[in-house]
Amino acid sequence: MKLYEFQGKEIFKKYGIPVQSGFLIHKNDEVKNLTPPLVLKSQLLVGGRGKAGGIKIWDGNTDALKIINELFSLKIKGEKVRAILALEKVDILREIYLSITFNRGKSTPVLIVGTSGGMDIEESARLNKEKIHFVEIDPFLGILEYQIRFVAKKINIGNYLEFRNIIRAVYKIFKEYDATLVEINPLAITPSGFVAIDAKVNLDDQSSFRHEELFNRLREEKEFIQDKKKVHTSKPKEDTITYVPLSGDIGLISDGAGTGLFTLDLINEYGGKVANFCEMGGITNSEVMFKSLKMVASDHSVKSILVVLIGGFNRMDDMAEGILKFKKELNKDIPIFIRMCGTKEEIGKELMKKANIPVYDSLNVAVEKTIKKAMEN
Ligand code: GDP
Ligand code: MN
Repeated sequence: MKLYEFQGKEIFKKYGIPVQSGFLIHKNDEVKNLTPPLVLKSQLLVGGRGKAGGIKIWDGNTDALKIINELFSLKIKGEKVRAILALEKVDILREIYLSITFNRGKSTPVLIVGTSGGMDIEESARLNKEKIHFVEIDPFLGILEYQIRFVAKKINIGNYLEFRNIIRAVYKIFKEYDATLVEINPLAITPSGFVAIDAKVNLDDQSSFRHEELFNRLREEKEFIQDKKKVHTSKPKEDTITYVPLSGDIGLISDGAGTGLFTLDLINEYGGKVANFCEMGGITNSEVMFKSLKMVASDHSVKSILVVLIGGFNRMDDMAEGILKFKKELNKDIPIFIRMCGTKEEIGKELMKKANIPVYDSLNVAVEKTIKKAMEN
């Protein structure tokens, strides 16, 4: 799960990494008593906000509300601005790049430090390889003093102790939160020391079971920002249904665990992200189909739904009835894509076609169509 800057910075603060003080502005909030100078930053999950005009400095000479409204009218890389983080502006003497992520080849964490951070890091990384330093971290030993000294020297850091504490804190966050990325770009050197200007924290969804409360809280905050509706965060326990909340935008329903997991992998491979996954649990009926759709659709981040059915015990005409009931009674306009085969397949498909619900024989095609629709919506 990707965190917003303000969520990442909350964690930074807790671990002693210096951040600017500030507050969050939601759309339609009444904003008053602002003191300049402020940096107004659109809260988005995509990178490169600065270059796209999503970050503005308010020096007090113009109307802050005008800038705020301008930011709220922006859509950057397909994402609408729904919250703005207002921070006290700091003076930047130098920008550094700092992150810890996984070296997937070696299956170890790696510390990455760049002489110059900021908005052009990707460009400068390509052009000046000697300006970026990688340090492999042994997960059993953790990050060692000499490794930090090595990079500090390489990039000419004067205030070593402060720098070391920040790196240690970043590694601690990386470990304790089961993160896949903790990035500070830029880490600024200001007249009064280091300040983390930006925060990018990605958490590993696979370890969400270890941080259930945290994931639920972060998800709720996100949901609040995204459309101010509440999302299903805990596991609803009903019948034989197994419900797994994840963090993408596709709802997935299957009649067996194996089919479901296989399809989940396939969706990932095609570049999609599953928001939640419902396994109906072996032998099932139209009512369970209906309930599963209802559960999956109650998560507001679901933009399209894929139903994958292999009819051995299950009858496809039954399954189709459940889908039709969902369409009729809940009247949700989330597009549904079906792949069904097996017992009473012909009748099931016929019912779907009559209701204009697309059915595909190829699972790959069904997956592609579902992802495409989720991206459009
Ligand atoms: P990104 O473009 O999404 O990576 O957003 P950042 O938070 O990294 O901000 C982009 C750039 O805005 C930074 O590299 C800084 O140069 C500039 N910036 C952000 N906050 C401040 C600030 O408080 N003071 C100054 N002087 N520049 C800032
Ligand atoms: Mn940045």
